[in-house]
Amino acid sequence: MTESVKTNLLDFDRKGLATFFVGIGEKTFRATQLLKWIYQEDVTDFDQMTNLSKSLRAYLKENCTIVAPEILIEQIASDGTTKWVVEMGLGNRIESVFIPEEKRGTLCVSSQIGCALACTFCSTAKQGFNRNLSVAEIIGQLYVAQKRLGDKQRITNVVMMGMGEPLLNFNNVVAAMNLMMDDFTYGLSKRRVTVSTSGIVPAMHRLNEVCDVSMAVSLHAANDELRDELVPINQKYPLKELMGACREYAKQGPRKHITFEYVMLEGVNDSVQDAMALIKLLKNVPAKINLIRFNPFQNSGYRCSSIDTISRFKDILHKSGLVTTIRKTRGDDIDAACGQLVGKVKDKSRRHLKLQNMSTANVA
Ligand code: SAH
Repeated sequence: MTESVKTNLLDFDRKGLATFFVGIGEKTFRATQLLKWIYQEDVTDFDQMTNLSKSLRAYLKENCTIVAPEILIEQIASDGTTKWVVEMGLGNRIESVFIPEEKRGTLCVSSQIGCALACTFCSTAKQGFNRNLSVAEIIGQLYVAQKRLGDKQRITNVVMMGMGEPLLNFNNVVAAMNLMMDDFTYGLSKRRVTVSTSGIVPAMHRLNEVCDVSMAVSLHAANDELRDELVPINQKYPLKELMGACREYAKQGPRKHITFEYVMLEGVNDSVQDAMALIKLLKNVPAKINLIRFNPFQNSGYRCSSIDTISRFKDILHKSGLVTTIRKTRGDDIDAACGQLVGKVKDKSRRHLKLQNMSTANVA
């Protein structure tokens, strides 16, 4: 039997694994035993899994595998931020980023190869889209990163803010997040796992039913006209619907607020009026605002607002009672900052052709 037809056990969360074991006539507790071996004991050789019966070990050896994606390149920035380029096969590569801080270590995880959305200020968007990542490829980023960091540095937080739109890869992302939070793997707290979305409203409602993670919404504009342009998915799910979904999500359980990400683009969304509109928009939503410096990339057509403009914007929000932070830029000397992750995408969406046509049309 070749490797490729074997079942990769990294593709299952605990529930999936339990179903798998029941399917082969085993008890469900095998799922927790296996998770512990893989994620806590760092054992992938079935022969070493001593609390499994000999016959089960033989079955797993014959039919299953435990394969994580491979790190191809590691780059460490002057501030300690580490970027890994991870091989995903067939010429595709994604990037994940580790951001060390004094009291925590955050891993920024990708959910898709490329991105199908066309946010105008994001370099991943320019690359087009290839495919969704599997559960193994998503949890695998945490698995290989923690292994690489060793005992010295623990990953305490995960943000689904790498390449791709996580809520357009719903089932795999939810399973991978469930895995991260499982007591038999990394046991990350649900407050420390954050899904970031450009606002896929139906998926936000679905997530509300099945998962308890924190949510960040990439807002970037406080009126539909501008947001339609910057985050085109807004044309499908406009602000009124988006705010409704945010209110619903924030209502439940331990979640107290939604984090709104707002990239500061000079002369585009950074005026006093924009700040006032934002205050009005978020009036009835439990919100924290995270202002992000625009990270430039070639031919983006945008510039980051000046430090003065950003602080003025922040002060206006702050005075209205909105908790507002300015995100520290980390790892920009290795292109590991927000919106700079590009990997290598074999575009299937023909995005590059469309963009080329658009720019020739503009010139003509
Ligand atoms: N698709 C998801 C997650 C990936 S992007 C989302 O839209 O939320 C993570 C964050 O980085 C988003 O808020 C995104 O809007 C922001 N971002 C994208 N390009 C950027 C850039 N060039 N500079 C700064 N932030 C950027």
